[in-house]
Amino acid sequence: MFREALFVDRLNRFVVLCEEGGRRFPAHLPNPGRLWEILLPGRVLLLEDQGKRDMPRVWGALLGEKVVCLHTASAASVARKLLEEECLEDFAGFRVAGTEIPIGNSRLDFLLKRGREKMFLEVKSCTLFFDGLAMFPDAVTVRGRKHVELLADLGGAVLFVVHVPSPFAFLPDFHTDPEFASALYAARKKVLIRAVAVRWDTAGNFQYSHTLDLPWEVYEREAGDRGSYLLSGYLPETRRIAVGNLGELNFPQGFYVYVGSAMRGLLGRIRRHLRKRKRSHWHIDALLPFLEDVRAFPIRSSERLECAIARELEDLARPIPRFGASDCSCGSHLFYLPQPPLKIAPFVEVLLRFRMGRVAGILQEIRGVSVN
Ligand SMILES: [Zn+2]
Repeated sequence: MFREALFVDRLNRFVVLCEEGGRRFPAHLPNPGRLWEILLPGRVLLLEDQGKRDMPRVWGALLGEKVVCLHTASAASVARKLLEEECLEDFAGFRVAGTEIPIGNSRLDFLLKRGREKMFLEVKSCTLFFDGLAMFPDAVTVRGRKHVELLADLGGAVLFVVHVPSPFAFLPDFHTDPEFASALYAARKKVLIRAVAVRWDTAGNFQYSHTLDLPWEVYEREAGDRGSYLLSGYLPETRRIAVGNLGELNFPQGFYVYVGSAMRGLLGRIRRHLRKRKRSHWHIDALLPFLEDVRAFPIRSSERLECAIARELEDLARPIPRFGASDCSCGSHLFYLPQPPLKIAPFVEVLLRFRMGRVAGILQEIRGVSVN
């Protein structure tokens, strides 16, 4: 059985700080993903004890009624069971003939055989979902991209195990890892790509739920190098800074989020913002040199969304009047937050709504039209 604890903070990639009955303690997190939408303060984690000398291990999390398994390695055992129980039509008759197969510098999860037929299978664990859409990866994965390229050469399959039953469609996360996404898109005719959803219970048992749609037509429309972006950063001390035509402004110590867009060359625009040396052009160029831990959150889309995003941020952060909004009717495109944005659930939700909810909406529209 698992015991419940509240998530407090992520101390490093593989360790989180938890709280249980007023006591705080570290726990091992067997998942290298970012998990922003899951690891929010106060979230209930399900822990497994590992014996007296080791810290407990995070098995999963509760998202309302949903149980999400966070143990990355569990995806391979899920896949194995689904194969053995013949839940997956495309793999009918295949049995596991080997695991952890070394090929060059990589390792593929399974070698499957059906008579004399062979197939390599790589399994990926997916916990990123919103509004009916699941995406992978939630952090850049060079290893994942190499697996896909290798499978395209060898012929084989990749199976995404989605750890909740709610999503109806799956796409590679072209916002977070466009290189993985385009490798998967390019491989789609050579590699069997499937995404399956499972339903977990709080005892750690799962059931097969369904196979997800892979709407490549939406990928083709939305995943280009264009769209909007958020930049976040931390100002370590209060400063007065001259900002072009706005004059000198007072910036209190804290966190800032800026929203912009580039409907041509989104990646190039973000790289420019992150570069130290450049000529000052936008309002944000005056502030960026003073910010620490600057991060970019691309939101790829065929439509310009920056003002819609700015309006949503206005509800959860304090706008800096007129900043970055010279060419539109918004109050501002720069927002102040006293806390890191990724620890604020409504901020993470805005990001997910524009990255994933919008894509799920487009998909439902397309489906609606094609059904009627
Ligand atoms: Zn605007």
